[in-house]
Amino acid sequence: MSFDLVLFGGTGDLAWRKIMPALFQAFRHGTLPEGGRIIGIARDDLSDDQYRELIRSRFVDVDLSKRPSPEEFQRFAGLLHFLRLDLSQPQDYRRLADMLRERHAEVVVMYLATAPDLFATVVKQLAAAGLNRPNTRLVLEKPLGHDLASNREINDTVRSVLDERQIFRIDHYLGKPAVQNLFAMRFGNALFEPVWRREHVSHVQITIAEDLGVEKRGAFYDKTGALRDMVQNHALQLLCALAMEPPISAHADAIRDEKLKVLRSLKRWTPETLDQHVVRGQYGPGTVGGQPVKGYREEAGVAPDSRTETFVALRAEIASWRWAGVPFYIRTGKRLAGREAEIVVSYREAPHAIFTAPPGSANRLVINLQPRDGLELHLLAQGQENRRNGQVLAPVHLDLDFDKRFGSERVGAYERLLLDVIAGRLNLFVRSDEQEAAWRWVEPIIEHWRNDDRGPRPYAAGTWGPSAASAMIARDGFCWSEEC
Ligand code: NAP
Repeated sequence: MSFDLVLFGGTGDLAWRKIMPALFQAFRHGTLPEGGRIIGIARDDLSDDQYRELIRSRFVDVDLSKRPSPEEFQRFAGLLHFLRLDLSQPQDYRRLADMLRERHAEVVVMYLATAPDLFATVVKQLAAAGLNRPNTRLVLEKPLGHDLASNREINDTVRSVLDERQIFRIDHYLGKPAVQNLFAMRFGNALFEPVWRREHVSHVQITIAEDLGVEKRGAFYDKTGALRDMVQNHALQLLCALAMEPPISAHADAIRDEKLKVLRSLKRWTPETLDQHVVRGQYGPGTVGGQPVKGYREEAGVAPDSRTETFVALRAEIASWRWAGVPFYIRTGKRLAGREAEIVVSYREAPHAIFTAPPGSANRLVINLQPRDGLELHLLAQGQENRRNGQVLAPVHLDLDFDKRFGSERVGAYERLLLDVIAGRLNLFVRSDEQEAAWRWVEPIIEHWRNDDRGPRPYAAGTWGPSAASAMIARDGFCWSEEC
């Protein structure tokens, strides 16, 4: 299948850190359809060869195992082209139309890797230049708006020129192998379904922890914060994957319909739950990996009196027959004590204990998303006999390391998503109504914080966030996975 992939923002950070390495991996694995062109777009005046050289030089920062050899890059570079185009200038789009007309590729992917305030302009100008054809696929990166109204505005503009089936909204967490494994585990095995419900599950924890700070993105982050950057999209998508009902088929809309139902079933916030079930924090100076690090307010691009949250912990509930009363805790933050993303499904204690079990050792299923991709099932087995307590159980766990089992050459998130766009598979992309439902749910939190003078709670960099997050979960009689 011939394709043209037009990369708006072809010289930007996202292009060289994520998109180009992913395209190269697909090329190396032989999964990128042959006969494609990758057309980088920016305002620089570069020839094709200068663009290729720029991309080649950027690969130096990519993981060694994912870096092309000189011969590999030479072959890959044959796909790369550059077009100087100012996205704010309507007449410039005609040159893109001319370039695409040169060969009438079967699929034309327009990937918007530019600042979101350009999205509406680009989409309107593509339509004005007649580039919204049935074979056009549009890829949108987060953030799609900063609230429900701005999200709707972008979605309305895009849908006025393209069909929903042509719109690929990226949430790269959905492209992670571990998330696909979650779908495979839930809907490919009969074992878990009967115990995937309130009668057996006591609570669920979703943690996306980063040990990094805001790096060079202080100015962007200060306007965004952890709730918009991580919770509204990635964390809620993980919650949907975990809590959704089995879809009737693997068709994209069958899956997205079920995810939407979860978002619509999230219990609405009340003044009491906003106060007690949401904790926001902001990191101060501390130590990470043995090195002293700055506090958030000292970071470049961040206001010295910033009230932006770098940490959120919250308790959600899903009002459905399957999940009523089961708390779903979400926690995410920067400059935490580790870099890990995991989902922990905790089961209830055995109803009648004839053996002695160590406290807090109920069965748990841990889905590791980062840094490694795996599954752990925590069980109790026979431990040492003890004269006073009789038989004492001991914790053991089954540990499935998918990287080991399937090899480290597995398809990465961006690689998978890009191949899906070219193939027209929408399963792992977010529909506009899902996005809107997620914004509708987080907006009361934003509003509550806006009117709350207390601001975020401080925490030292290199810790697990403010103690209020531990107090929140402890009120239900539980603890975060690293605390138990
Ligand atoms: P960036 O480094 O600032 O790159 C922006 C790109 O857009 C550059 O190639 C820039 O080239 C081009 N551009 C800007 N204005 C233009 C114009 N008027 N006409 C033509 N080209 C123009 O930004 P980024 O970090 O790659 O982020 C891009 C998008 O991805 C943003 O929406 C961001 O929120 C999202 N995102 C980024 C990351 C990440 O890790 N970086 C992660 C997730 C999502 P010239 O200025 O030379 O024209």
